[in-house]
Amino acid sequence: MSAPLRFEFVTSGDDVFRLPETRAEVAFLGRSNVGKSSLLNALANHKRLAHTSKTPGRTQLLNLFALGNGTTAVDLPGYGFAAVPGRTRSGWQQMIEGYLLEREALAMVLVLVDGEIGPTKLDVSMLAWLQAHDLPHTVVASKYDKVKSSKRGVRRHEVAAGCNVALDDVVWVSAAKGDGIEKLRGLILGWLASGARRPGARATVDASPQRGGGPGTVARGGDEHREGQVDGHREGDNPDDEHEWN
Ligand code: GDP
Repeated sequence: MSAPLRFEFVTSGDDVFRLPETRAEVAFLGRSNVGKSSLLNALANHKRLAHTSKTPGRTQLLNLFALGNGTTAVDLPGYGFAAVPGRTRSGWQQMIEGYLLEREALAMVLVLVDGEIGPTKLDVSMLAWLQAHDLPHTVVASKYDKVKSSKRGVRRHEVAAGCNVALDDVVWVSAAKGDGIEKLRGLILGWLASGARRPGARATVDASPQRGGGPGTVARGGDEHREGQVDGHREGDNPDDEHEWN
């Protein structure tokens, strides 16, 4: 049995190069409303976070949490907001892509897809982009409880096929009912323990703005702004302040 993950909010930022260094990190990615906040709450078993309200100012940032032993998790902003103006969306793309391509300690990207409705076009293009860039990723299908038990077998196949992954490679979860949560906690701890970095990403990835074809383009930066190591302590605010997931 895997105990709840002890997420401790560290910092928020819009630039991967300003995030503290870490030993190993998992990232949570998914379109808005997919159930990412609820899942994070369930993994942490933190009832006070369970209402999933959004913290103003943090919803469009990279939110970094310490998970102990110098490992971390990053909650990436939800994608697919139709209302986001072009310039903001472009900034979002740069921030997300910059993070995904440049975060050295990235051990796994958990890509949430809505298990009830299946992968959207954006989900599919995000998965294809991650695959094309050789970034380690795992599909997590949310809201398992919303799929009728009579349809679960078929839906499992549909979601796996839609995401272009093997049936057993999709982790099904229900934040509401708890299905799959312990399993996912164990997987996350395993990925963090392995500390595996994506194979040869720096050598293979061409993030030049001219290339196109992905969710956006990346402006690469230097390492000069990188700040200190994650030590599990919060920065700035009162340590008793509650972080609300976005
Ligand atoms: P986010 O925008 O990706 O952070 O999504 P939220 O976690 O805020 O969830 C969006 C909506 O889906 C909310 O109304 C949640 O209550 C609901 N939701 C999330 N996870 C589950 C789940 O496992 N089961 C059910 N039934 N609803 C869920």
